[in-house]
Amino acid sequence: MLRDRTLFSVPGATDEEGDAMMLPNARAILARAALLFVALVCSASKGSAQAAALNWWADDSLRIAMLTRDGIKAVRANAIVWAPRDSMPEIWVAALADTLDRGVAKLREIMRGPYEWQRIGDGPVTFYLSPGRFVSHGTGYGAVFIPVSRVHERVAPFLHEASHELLAPQPPFYRDEFADSVQGRLAAEATPLWLFEGLPDYLAQTAAPAIGLHEGDVFEIGGLAKVDSACAARVQASPHGQAVIDVMGRGARLAALFTTERAQVAPVFYACGQSLTRHIVERIGVRAAVELIPATRRGTWERDLERAAGQSIEVLRQGWLERIGLEGRGGGRNQSLRSATSGSIDAARTAGATHASTAAASNVARMAANASGAMVATPDTIPRMICAT
Ligand SMILES: [Zn+2]
Repeated sequence: MLRDRTLFSVPGATDEEGDAMMLPNARAILARAALLFVALVCSASKGSAQAAALNWWADDSLRIAMLTRDGIKAVRANAIVWAPRDSMPEIWVAALADTLDRGVAKLREIMRGPYEWQRIGDGPVTFYLSPGRFVSHGTGYGAVFIPVSRVHERVAPFLHEASHELLAPQPPFYRDEFADSVQGRLAAEATPLWLFEGLPDYLAQTAAPAIGLHEGDVFEIGGLAKVDSACAARVQASPHGQAVIDVMGRGARLAALFTTERAQVAPVFYACGQSLTRHIVERIGVRAAVELIPATRRGTWERDLERAAGQSIEVLRQGWLERIGLEGRGGGRNQSLRSATSGSIDAARTAGATHASTAAASNVARMAANASGAMVATPDTIPRMICAT
């Protein structure tokens, strides 16, 4: 049962629907969707890239309305599952709710929480399994949306998305929650995306096998046992390999993730982000690693990481590269990367000019992508659109 309704409320929004099930009303969801960055992972499997609208989240209110009207609901302490009535037998929904209940509980256990900054508190994660082809995504308010087709295809990233919800700190965290929009943008730009995505991957890949849950392997990495070799092989095979390595461990943006090249670069980026995250967790412990997420908005994550590890990030990076057999790939920071590499909002503010040119370039890329039907993110959507193929 949901205990903290305020998690799902929008200031000023009313609950006129009298939702006895304590679900967010559609208007609240729509408003929240418009306000929040959304952490997400693509549910599309390799080779099935779909054209998708940039405002994929705008349909969340409709998805909730449909499910509350024609859906099946199963409530557990750590998970609430909604599914279309005709999509699967009710007994499956109940069984899935049992599994996800254990999955979210396991995530919490692995995270060594609770943490006072957690937005979700000890409330459940709500899984909306919805019709249609769209990008699976979290919301930052305790709910995740996953295409029911991905559940049937066994590529649903249940625990990855749930991890994003468990890792969401109290606002302001997502870009649009900052009163100062410039500050919000700069804070978002300084986000270490490799960690922002790598930690949910690490948590999900640790929790899923522990409870026998099949977690969708979106990028066909093969789990923690294969993540190092997957990263190394993909870096060596990809023309984007060095660019991915250059942003690992840094608060820098990998431009190719937000252009039509995303489908090629994301499998490398996610494998390496998960690999480096595991390397760091093994050195500083999961609790210190989890604490790096709220530190990203304080601008202290780099300092906190170095303090916990007892060594500089560059030394950490080099140790990781040696571990995965890419010690010659350390490279350096070119000027453009250095300008965007900072956990500090103040430092990131100095990168405003760089952002302006990046935005212009991305707008061109977006137009090209729209013309070709591909999916692309612009700086305005970062990091809502963390993962998309
Ligand atoms: Zn994600």
